[in-house]
Amino acid sequence: MIKVALIGNPNVGKSTVFNGLTGMNQHTGNWPGKTVASADGICVTENNRYVLVDIPGTYSLMAHSVEEEVARNYLCFGEPDAVIVVCDATCLERNLNLVLQTIEISKNVIVCVNLMDEAKRKKIKINLNLLSKKLGVPVISTVAHKKSSLKTLTDTLDKVISKEIVVSPLKIEYPEIIESAIKNIQQCLMGYNIKNLDSRWLSLKLLDDDQSLIKEVNNYLGFDLLKEKDIKKAVNESKEYLNKNNINADKLKDMVVSIIVKTSEDICNGVITCEKENYSSVDRKFDKILTSKYIGYPIMLLMLMVIVLLTITGAN
Ligand code: GDP
Repeated sequence: MIKVALIGNPNVGKSTVFNGLTGMNQHTGNWPGKTVASADGICVTENNRYVLVDIPGTYSLMAHSVEEEVARNYLCFGEPDAVIVVCDATCLERNLNLVLQTIEISKNVIVCVNLMDEAKRKKIKINLNLLSKKLGVPVISTVAHKKSSLKTLTDTLDKVISKEIVVSPLKIEYPEIIESAIKNIQQCLMGYNIKNLDSRWLSLKLLDDDQSLIKEVNNYLGFDLLKEKDIKKAVNESKEYLNKNNINADKLKDMVVSIIVKTSEDICNGVITCEKENYSSVDRKFDKILTSKYIGYPIMLLMLMVIVLLTITGAN
């Protein structure tokens, strides 16, 4: 059976897409108190029968939370044949962070830009062809509760699986120093059977010292990566090289995150246009003020005080 993972940020209509494709009525929520788990359903298309796996909504795959870990682990170790990333058309730039992290792990990725009706209402235009060209993966648009728009998604999925559409995901470029550190480990990994894992992604993870992930990878591979002498040597060499250039594990993580955010921004240039010219610039001005290094915290404290006061007054 062909396995397809469905991932996306929370509230992008992922469950609606899942239910539309499988005829089920599921919601893989991840609010407090609900178990973070994936749901499976069968999706039958013209050419294939798929097991669709609805992964809990997540903003990233860096495994800072249970949802992020569940999503990352499924992509890494669940061996899906394809991954559909559902995005919100009204805030595509933010959603692209997850798309970029996904294409670092999986190859057969399809981007589904959902909530197109909302984007239209907000006069946001998205050049899907250009986005697809920039990402190197198929991009289709949907309005999840409309069956007809899901047909394009299943047709594209069939074509990706039959290799009628060749997917060649964008390679995220890191600074030269990080690239050489990655290459050193990646070359060494070529001598090992790392199953479906992407060697570039795995090299980066070995560098940023993600112990829990390395443990999971070892379990999946059936051998201890860092117990192999040449891998250990390559990792140490690359770490030393990074340290010499003032990049420790924490700084590396920060740099990787900022490069992903910057790449998302660059991709959106020319892809998204908004008729109300100042729509996103007003958003950006607010963002700048509210997240500013100096006045961001006082504003947050002020807002918390107002909330406490309102709560006390309300309770009285
Ligand atoms: P999830 O958290 O990503 O699984 O999101 P849901 O599938 O629960 O959808 C969140 C809300 O968005 C629900 O109220 C859906 O009915 C709504 N929704 C989903 N897709 C669309 C869409 O394409 N257009 C509009 N207007 N609403 C949508």
